[in-house]
Amino acid sequence: MTTPHDVDPLEDAREADDRPDVFPEPAIYGREIDEALIDSDAAKVLRRLSRHGYVAYLVGGGVRDLLLGRRPKDFDVATDASPSEVRRLFRNSRVIGRRFRLVHVLFAGGNVIEVATFRRDPAQRYAAVAPELVDGMELRSDGDPVRLVPLPSEVGGDLLIRNDNIFGEPHEDAIRRDFTINGLFYDLDHGEVIDYVGGMSDLERRVVRMIGEPEVRFREDPVRILRAIKFSARLDLGIDAPVYEAIVHHRCELARAASARVLEEIFRLLRGGAAHRSVYLCWESGVLAEVLPELACFLDDDGPQARRTWGRLLAADAMHRDGALPKDAVVFAAMLLGPILEAVEGRRDVSATFDEFFQPITERLNVPRRMKDRVRLLVLAYQRLSAGRAASVARREVFPDAMRLYALDCVARGDPAPDLPPETPDRPPRARGDRDRRHDRAAGRGSGERRRRRRR
Ligand code: ATP
Ligand code: MG
Repeated sequence: MTTPHDVDPLEDAREADDRPDVFPEPAIYGREIDEALIDSDAAKVLRRLSRHGYVAYLVGGGVRDLLLGRRPKDFDVATDASPSEVRRLFRNSRVIGRRFRLVHVLFAGGNVIEVATFRRDPAQRYAAVAPELVDGMELRSDGDPVRLVPLPSEVGGDLLIRNDNIFGEPHEDAIRRDFTINGLFYDLDHGEVIDYVGGMSDLERRVVRMIGEPEVRFREDPVRILRAIKFSARLDLGIDAPVYEAIVHHRCELARAASARVLEEIFRLLRGGAAHRSVYLCWESGVLAEVLPELACFLDDDGPQARRTWGRLLAADAMHRDGALPKDAVVFAAMLLGPILEAVEGRRDVSATFDEFFQPITERLNVPRRMKDRVRLLVLAYQRLSAGRAASVARREVFPDAMRLYALDCVARGDPAPDLPPETPDRPPRARGDRDRRHDRAAGRGSGERRRRRRR
């Protein structure tokens, strides 16, 4: 029997199987997207692939954001070319990923376009149902378009996905994605949106809807819970009622997800410009009590300090709108400041009390030591700033970041924000030991290019 592990993704051969040869017809909408919004390197990749006879689409969050008129932060390409075929077309590329091989095409200025071969979940079966079409939009499908709905392959038991790494067809690639708005493909050459999952009508209705059964899909991958909240908050979309109910019902499954992925999603919630709405949705749905119970309890009290926390998150979003997004550690500290200050109040050894407070968070979310140390430094500096002792920290490296935390707090309590010193570089300048460098190598950092995190 062939298991996904036995498939050499560099081989061009596809698996023999009993899947039908007739592929379902997607709803295809004519839609010209303003090229100025599309990354020119991504357009080059798409055009070269299709010039060489391959199918190549822009996929995922990039299509969603473009259709909402937003400039995406990354542009991902999916194609029927195998990784080795993609490699042959782009000299400036390299194959990455152990479980599923992807190709990174490298461009000047550190821009990286990720090219994935269409893939499928080998256990996935689906049904074709009547599509919900968008009224008044030009439909270019030839036959009778359908909408695909994955059928739960197993109900009950452990559904956590561990493998989804074999090649597939475009429609199979679409239905393995999480939300309908993330399952759209864009064909740049023809100016067409290819919709196997009903994503276009959901974008029109401005709703986050699951591809398939929310109950099943959240159990397969509980990180999708945070992703649903992120898209709703950041893009100002409603959450489909069954999705929201499943979030509430399955929130405790987040404890089973890889902590690094959960933490990364928390940072994405905070840095997306909708930190307030994100944390509010997490809190309201009970998700916050799973990932950061310390904060959830604090907010439950609904006292003046809880209101200050909401105010700091609103202020961080306002800073983001002004184009001055504070760093991850600053927003993380702004979010946790209330419970931290409550814990250290009246204690002589603030640093040790902070560590005690942070210990369960570190254990639960695997917070990197560098982040924890940074938050501690920020809180200590914040205390001095709010005690009117700015001079004692003004020459410290942490000062500009601490001033941003302090400014968020000033705005939250209705005071004018202080003038901010220029930002410090992302990583505090300090002697880096071998341990750091080893850590960087293990995390795949250090090549100088823009890196993106991705589920593989
Ligand atoms: P963001 O704007 O935050 O990057 P995104 O939708 O682009 O959001 P990515 O994490 O970059 O999210 O993933 C790219 C695409 O991969 C998604 O749009 C979705 O189609 C698919 N995807 C990502 N994570 C999952 C998941 N956990 N389950 C199913 N599909 C996923
Ligand atoms: Mg993305």
